[in-house]
Amino acid sequence: MQYWPDDVLETAEALNGNRQDQELTMKASLHWPSTLAACFAAALLLCSAAALQAAPRQAHAAARKSAPPTHVLHLTAVKLEDSGWTDQRVLSILRSAGRILARCGVKLERVELVSLAVPPSYLDLATPETQRTLARDYSVARPAVYFVHEARSSPASETEAFGRGNSQPALADTVWITLAARNPVIALAHELAHVLMDSAEHSEEPGNLMRDRTAPKNTTLTPAQCARLRDTATRNGLLKKASSKTS
Ligand SMILES: [Zn+2]
Repeated sequence: MQYWPDDVLETAEALNGNRQDQELTMKASLHWPSTLAACFAAALLLCSAAALQAAPRQAHAAARKSAPPTHVLHLTAVKLEDSGWTDQRVLSILRSAGRILARCGVKLERVELVSLAVPPSYLDLATPETQRTLARDYSVARPAVYFVHEARSSPASETEAFGRGNSQPALADTVWITLAARNPVIALAHELAHVLMDSAEHSEEPGNLMRDRTAPKNTTLTPAQCARLRDTATRNGLLKKASSKTS
């Protein structure tokens, strides 16, 4: 699913809504990891629920309705400084990916955006060991999405997801997305669904988000996929049941 037609970008823009900049209300503070020598410095941005509320959708997207939220998702987004990602782009992509998951009744309620300054050797994540070291030495709440420059350890991958049964247990419940991902919104939703379902399964159903080769219109999830996503992620502590005020 690493290669995307160019018109995916258009879809991503369509999903992005509008006035996103004005919606953002972020609180920034410096956060210094206590267990780590001076390798990493991080700025933590706590993004309120209001910041991630979907703006009123445009008419062209009205056919794909969100289900009433029954579960809430809190994500950590780790943005590597000097990777080329900006806070604004990260939050925009997360917000749009959240709208896809909303079709399963999952509300992306909060994102902790960590801007992480790393030694240059970490920027390209040349080996899985680099990924493990980064995830281990700067531990964040999971599920976590890492916004990185590129991942040379797997040059064909623009995105990666690690479930609990993967060969890298230290990376469980994480998604890695590179600057090269040509459709970051759908790619991120697809990888997050892998993590939440704790499954590497793909679908052959037309239009399904979990098709192996994702295309612009592949954004749907079946009721069975949604049920599995909600049940597995809740069992694994990655989703919480929504309180009545959430919905
Ligand atoms: Zn996949």
